[in-house]
This record gives sequence, C-alpha cells and structure tokens, in this order.
Amino acid sequence: MTSVPRICILGGGFGGLYTALRLNQLVWDNGQKPEITLIDRQTSFVFTPLLYELITGEMQGWEIAPPFAELLKGTDIRFIQGSVDYVDKTQKSVTLEDGTELEYDRLVLALGCETPSESVAGVKDYAIPFRSIQDAYKLDEQLRVLEASTTEKIRIAIVGAGYSGVEVACKLADRLKARGRVRLIQSRDTILPDAPKFNRDAALKALEQRGIWVDLETTVSEITADSIGLIYKDQTDIIPVEIVMWTVGNQVSPALSHFGLPLNAQGKITTTDTLQVTDNLEIYALGDAAAILDSTNESIPSTAQVAFQQADFVAWNIWSSLTDRPLLTFRYTNLGEMMTLGNDNAVLSGMGIQFDGPLAYLARRLVYLYRLPTLDHQLKVGLNWLTQPLVKLLS
Ligand SMILES: Cc1cc2nc3c(=O)[nH]c(=O)nc-3n(C[C@H](O)[C@H](O)[C@H](O)COP(=O)(O)OP(=O)(O)OC[C@H]3O[C@@H](n4cnc5c(N)ncnc54)[C@H](O)[C@@H]3O)c2cc1C
Repeated sequence: MTSVPRICILGGGFGGLYTALRLNQLVWDNGQKPEITLIDRQTSFVFTPLLYELITGEMQGWEIAPPFAELLKGTDIRFIQGSVDYVDKTQKSVTLEDGTELEYDRLVLALGCETPSESVAGVKDYAIPFRSIQDAYKLDEQLRVLEASTTEKIRIAIVGAGYSGVEVACKLADRLKARGRVRLIQSRDTILPDAPKFNRDAALKALEQRGIWVDLETTVSEITADSIGLIYKDQTDIIPVEIVMWTVGNQVSPALSHFGLPLNAQGKITTTDTLQVTDNLEIYALGDAAAILDSTNESIPSTAQVAFQQADFVAWNIWSSLTDRPLLTFRYTNLGEMMTLGNDNAVLSGMGIQFDGPLAYLARRLVYLYRLPTLDHQLKVGLNWLTQPLVKLLS
C-alpha cells in the first residue's frame, strides 16, 4: 500500500455518495486521510424517492438531482464522471470506458440496478422507465406536447403496480386531471404486494379517488408507438395509448458479471456481514447490487433506506480496516415506509405509527429534507420550500 491509501467508490447513488461523504467526515490519524475518488456515469446524484414530484412540478430538477460537483465542494473527495468498464481485482485497478485506469487499496461497489427492458417486445423502443432524471424529463416533455395538442383524452398505461407504478399513477392523474385516462397494469392479484396493509389500503383509496383504472392479473403482450397489448385470462386486448410507463423489475448492471466476483442467482454480489465481498476483503459492496442477508438470513430489500444505512457501515469498516480496528457487523433497522399518493397526499407507516393524508405528506417531505446528502443542499432546498409560496403569491 502507498503511504496515502486510495479508496475508489464506483457509483454515486445512495450507497456510493453517502459512503464517500461519511468517509470524508471521519477523523484520520497522523495525516492518514485517504484519497477518496467517486466515479459515476452521470453528473448528478438522484434522490429517487422525490422523483415523482417532478411530474407535478411540486419540486424542481436542481432540488432532486444536485450535481456531484456542487455536493462535493469543500470536501476532499475527487469526482470523476465516467462509466465503469472493468475491475481487475488482481491488479487492484478499475478501468473506465474511456480507458482511464485507477488503482485502489479499498474498492466500494455501489452501481445499483437498472429497469430491464428486454422482457416484452416494444418496451425498449416505446415505453418510458422511471428511474433517472432523464426518464422524468422525457415523461414531462411528452406530457407537455400532449397537453398543448388537441388530443381530447391523454391515455397513459403504467405497467407495474409496485411502489413506483402506484406513485407515478397518482401524480399523473393529479397533473392531467379530467383530461387524463390513467391505467395501472399488474400481473399479480393485488397492487403493492410487499407493502403494509395500511399503505396498500391508502393507495387503493387514492387510486379510486382519482379514477385510475387498475387491471389485476394482467400481463403485457406487446407495446407499439400507440398501443399496448394486454392479456387477461388468455384473452389479448389491444388498447390505444399515448404513453406507456414501464416500472417493472430490478436488474443489476451487466458490467458486474465481468468482474469475477461472487454473485448470487440474481447476479448480485455476495458479501460478508461486514459488507465485504466474499473472499475479496478489500472490496465492499452495498445497495441494490449487493446480496445482503439480515441476522435471520432473510435478504434485505433493495431500498434507499437500506443503502443509506449500509453507507455508514461501509465507511466505518473501511476506516477500521485502515486503522487496525475491529470491523462492525451490519444491522438493518427497518424504519418503515412512505409513499406519495398525489398532490398533498402521502401514507406513512413504521416505528409503531401509521397515518395518511396531508400530514403524512408534510412528514414525508421533512424526513426527505433531512435525508438529502449535504447540509448545504438541505438548507437550499428547505429555504426554497419556505420562500416558494411567497414568490408565487407575489408573481
Ligand atoms: C422512482 C424510484 C423511487 C424510489 N423511491 C424509494 C423510496 O421512497 N424509498 C426507498 O427506500 N427507496 C426508493 N427507491 C429505491 C432506491 O432508489 C434504491 O434502492 C437506491 O437508490 C439504491 O442505492 P444504490 O446506491 O444501490 O443505487 P443507485 O442509487 O441507483 O446508484 C447507482 C449509481 O451507479 C451509477 N452507475 C451505474 N452503473 C454505472 C457504471 N457502469 N459506471 C458508472 N456509474 C454507474 C448510476 O449512475 C447511479 O448513480 C426508489 C427507486 C426509484 C427508481
């Protein structure tokens, strides 16, 4: 190892960015502060739980997707925009698509997941996923064109009635109001199969109040530029639509399979309970791309809440490993879950409490404000929330 340890963090999402920020805050003995490099293919972090607010214009892009350059200002973290191509664990080096090579003493893998688009014909070409800021802007752009057109009814099919599908549906219905025809398509016999009953009931009420049509036990045969094929009880119906949203599935980045690391059946990286990659102890993995079990050997869900908690442990364990201290076992604390269900409406359950409506909307907003990556960004966004009603009143 060189005199200054080099930590390379791949992926600047909830796992990678928060690990970098935490590492930067830790106290290092005798000038041993490592060189921390964060690599992401995008220029901005995305706070995905608030992405829905872009549909209704409740929030702006800069609040949800602040540039890394801005978030890392004043820290010792170096940011490189680039796509990770290869990890050579023998040479302890990372190669980016443009040929840049970086050596590491500790590596953090936090490359997240993607929405698969190969399962049904037409998804890749005609449907919009809802995962990145670009997806949200693309949806907004198509909606603006339709809203400015003479089209009487704007028909939208959302495939997948998990959290994203339900939340997108409510926001779209609130944006389009009487002009919208929103349809939610779900292969299973219920929406939100993994959600607490209280949240599912609140979501069902919100969908019903907005006139959103829910197709259960329905699968998709094909998507074209202006239609979607729906299969229900072996019968296929072709429905005309203006927009199809695809919110189904979580697939790890195909790049991971080339790194020669241990993967589980879903292609996720397997780790020890200290979040080190099995048999590769100088490499750490967290977030959606890591297969991590809780203390009862159940797998932990792929959520921002999990990645956020793991980031603290990864940062601490890297610090411990470089300063000859014992490593900590990761323990997940389920703090519950929140969903946005349209304008001024949300549902929240966890830690023994559950409520919905405008109060839940406010609580969700405040929790997420507190979770934004840096104090500086929290203050900017918080101030904007306080002053925006005043600006609107005066304009
Ligand atoms: C719309 C939406 C809403 C969500 N809402 C919630 C919620 O309310 N609560 C909750 O707990 N969870 C929520 N989630 C889930 C949450 O976003 C993920 O669980 C979390 O982001 C996982 O963190 P991660 O660091 O593993 O991955 P990510 O946050 O996805 O970060 C991965 C990063 O790696 C980068 N990357 C990928 N491949 C490469 C490459 N080859 N080279 C360079 N960079 C690369 C990506 O650009 C990205 O920045 C939501 C997800 C979505 C899509």
